Amino acid sequence: MRIGTGYDVHRLAEGRKLILCGVEIPNEKGLAGHSDADVAVHALMDAMLGALALGDIGKLFPDSDPKYEGADSMKLLAEVIKLAGQEGYVLGNCDITIIAEKPKLSEYIEQMRENLAGAFSCEVSRISVKATTEEGLGLAGEGIGAQAVVLLEKRTLKLYKA
Ligand code: MG
Repeated sequence: MRIGTGYDVHRLAEGRKLILCGVEIPNEKGLAGHSDADVAVHALMDAMLGALALGDIGKLFPDSDPKYEGADSMKLLAEVIKLAGQEGYVLGNCDITIIAEKPKLSEYIEQMRENLAGAFSCEVSRISVKATTEEGLGLAGEGIGAQAVVLLEKRTLKLYKA
């Protein structure tokens, strides 16, 4: 088994969509960034790359590359999942914490979990997404952060009888 952690923060800005774990959340501001700025998926990818000791998403998807401008982070995640597969690893489980003063995220959590389970082709029970505020003391509504912990398991060959 391999374990990794990821952390990311993006600033809230006018005229941007707010996308978290591939879910578009109605809000007057969205996250600024070169890609779609899905901070939760960025933390998740960094945790996976950390588990594999393969660097980080800045190394894999440099923001100096125009190819990644406005990129759908779920598509980048699919590439990281493929890379993990090539290394012989599949997801054991992941636990993501989104740090946001606002908006309220509770009603979107299940959709986020389903999106990620779809990306990994795994049971939703392997995916945890949580949200917390920092009581106005940390990012204070100026941005949204995310932390992720990922456990990857060596893929085992399962033999089934025909
Ligand atoms: Mg990022």
